[in-house]
Amino acid sequence: MAFPPPIEGDGRQPLSIAPAIERSVFCVECGREGPTTDGLCATCFAKRHPLLEARAHLDVSRCARCGSLRFREGWIRSRLDEAIPRILHEDIPIRWPYEAATFDYVMKPEDTSNLRLEVTATGRYGDLRQVQTFRTRLRLRPSLCDVCTKQRSRYYAGIVQVRAETRVLTRPEKQRVRAFVEARMGRRAEGSEDFVSRIEDVRGGLDFYVSTNTLAKSLGRDLAKAFGGTATSTSKLYGRRGGKDLHRVTSLVCLGPFQVGDVVRHKGSLAEVVDVGPITMLRDLGSGEVRRFRSRDLRTAVAVEAERLEATLEPAGNGTLVAVDPRTGFRQPVRSSPRAGPGRTVVVWTPEGAYVSSLPAGSSKG
Ligand SMILES: [Zn+2]
Ligand SMILES: [Zn+2]
Repeated sequence: MAFPPPIEGDGRQPLSIAPAIERSVFCVECGREGPTTDGLCATCFAKRHPLLEARAHLDVSRCARCGSLRFREGWIRSRLDEAIPRILHEDIPIRWPYEAATFDYVMKPEDTSNLRLEVTATGRYGDLRQVQTFRTRLRLRPSLCDVCTKQRSRYYAGIVQVRAETRVLTRPEKQRVRAFVEARMGRRAEGSEDFVSRIEDVRGGLDFYVSTNTLAKSLGRDLAKAFGGTATSTSKLYGRRGGKDLHRVTSLVCLGPFQVGDVVRHKGSLAEVVDVGPITMLRDLGSGEVRRFRSRDLRTAVAVEAERLEATLEPAGNGTLVAVDPRTGFRQPVRSSPRAGPGRTVVVWTPEGAYVSSLPAGSSKG
């Protein structure tokens, strides 16, 4: 027999440090012959020492906004089915003299905030295995977690301003920036205090009001890295609370002048933007050569209206090709060299001619 560790009593006199098990004696309670624990048969032991006190209801606060559940140690984002064992452990204490029990359950949702639970709890006292089943109703109480409470009050500490150099952010760019921020906030760690309390669509760009200065800085850096640009943050003292200076960090993200897919005229030749970031990559549409530029070296580059589409290239005599727009039948000489062969290919369509592109169709600015 394994000796269990000493058990903390509940104020009563302990039965014994370890259970006294005898193979075949008479139960002191009912007189039945058989194995006993501390003088009692299994039935009488269970009657005298129930494993737990069943409860008709278990109430759990659930944040109406983010779905976080409130546990003893605070609000936690957790799936309900994964949270139930923890709720049972927290709300249904195991009684002396049993050691910690395990809970199995069958869950039947009644509606969006009530669940029927059929629980089987198994506890141990030495070698004695005690099983107790009960039914209870888990009631989810609508509430608002700490993070959502702050968020609803439009609380913010820092600001991330997203702008573009010498131009305004385009609508698709704004959508991509928003989606990037949403995805990042969706990955925030359990119990994180990070949130975006509001987003403002302002002239030229977007402003994100965020819950911490650390988030303002890191989000600014991440946006600059993902979208190609620079991030600079400034800190301003705006008050004191509890003897501490309060600072507000503003992170300014400045995206480069061009986006991937843009067609630009730079130093006399036409090029398409194939990558943006700390370094902008331009592919010369005539020669196909790719060159790297810092954004300050592209100050004189200007965007050119052009469409990127899949065209059919046809031979046009003397080894030249002509591009045909399949939607309109319009034809343009193909100006790229080295020239592509006949067939379907993606071209940049400009008033001066068609150029073979290295990017997929449709990847121009919107
Ligand atoms: Zn008995
Ligand atoms: Zn919440």
